Amino acid sequence: MSKTHRIAVIAGDGIGQEVMPEGLRAVEAAAAKFGMALEFTHFDWAHCDYYLQHGKMMPDDWFAQLKGFDAIFFGAVGWPDKVPDHISLWGSLLKFRRDFDQYVNLRPVRLMPGVPCPLANKKVGDIDFYVVRENTEGEYSAVGGKMYEGTERETVLQESIFTRKGVDRILKYAFELAQKRPKKHLTSATKSNGIAISMPYWDERVKEMGKAYPEVKWDQYHIDILTARFVLSPERFDVVVASNLFGDILSDLGPACAGTIGIAPSANLNPDRTFPSLFEPVHGSAPDIHGKGIANPIAMIWSGAMMLDFLGHTAAHDAMVKAIEKVLVEGPRTPDMGGGANTSEVGKAVAEAIARG
Ligand code: ATP
Ligand code: MG
Repeated sequence: MSKTHRIAVIAGDGIGQEVMPEGLRAVEAAAAKFGMALEFTHFDWAHCDYYLQHGKMMPDDWFAQLKGFDAIFFGAVGWPDKVPDHISLWGSLLKFRRDFDQYVNLRPVRLMPGVPCPLANKKVGDIDFYVVRENTEGEYSAVGGKMYEGTERETVLQESIFTRKGVDRILKYAFELAQKRPKKHLTSATKSNGIAISMPYWDERVKEMGKAYPEVKWDQYHIDILTARFVLSPERFDVVVASNLFGDILSDLGPACAGTIGIAPSANLNPDRTFPSLFEPVHGSAPDIHGKGIANPIAMIWSGAMMLDFLGHTAAHDAMVKAIEKVLVEGPRTPDMGGGANTSEVGKAVAEAIARG
């Protein structure tokens, strides 16, 4: 047995509660198969009902409670009818990202077998890349303010913040990832023809970082044409690195190009491992289907596979992804994929496929 990994489990809101048990079932099946020791601790906060009772999303000592874990396995947060999104998000997930310095948001974009592709004429293998989003600074800042309020001159300013440390560490992560991939290709998202100070700086740092990775071929596109290329020719991409705002857009567009949101996973990584990293599905709490037992658990399960990979268990990750592919092809399927199965039927099928190998 390897060292015991301690995992904090936060199911959160809506379908987070429904897909989390299936994520855990699959991760436990992989742990049993590959002889891993995992210890799960469940936390019943960071959801909107907690906010309605306590006036905050999390207890004051949340940082101390979570900081010693090896990873956080997270379902979903947000229930706009109960609590505005900016309160629920800033009160939980965005705090984790910032205070645990999870500066990489990583999303695989892969057309999986058995998944109908919304783009014409694409087959499995054509879409297989990663979006690497800067997760802690850039355009998402709280620096700025309002002037001349209520007058005709009313003006609102909001600053973007790009630090050398912040830019270089995300670029380094992206170049390292590209270096490990067969194509060894990196694309940088920019907009230096319009955003005249921060984006030229970003470009300059890409050029500088590229010198340390001579095997990696890199190019850059303005964000407007880049979004068009995602849709028209996704096969040209391997690793795409972007600032917080551009990465936010690309990391939603990418999975949408590769099929249903119900299967798309993500990781918020602290590659330095000073604090826990967080693994969550791309989708949200989906109030419209909550309580019906029909949420697709595959995004949660795939996020669990990314978690095991980050904890050093690459073979377990690969086995989980293989099991997901098998179930995507053979079924059972949830309604978002045209099937009639419920959440736990799909979860059980994936766990069994992992166990059988
Ligand atoms: P957020 O703002 O947190 O991203 P959202 O409300 O904008 O959340 P989602 O909760 O991801 O978006 O839901 C978007 C749509 O996708 C909804 O119609 C929802 O039912 C559907 N959906 C999301 N996740 C799943 C899933 N796991 N299985 C099936 N359908 C899903
Ligand atoms: Mg939303």
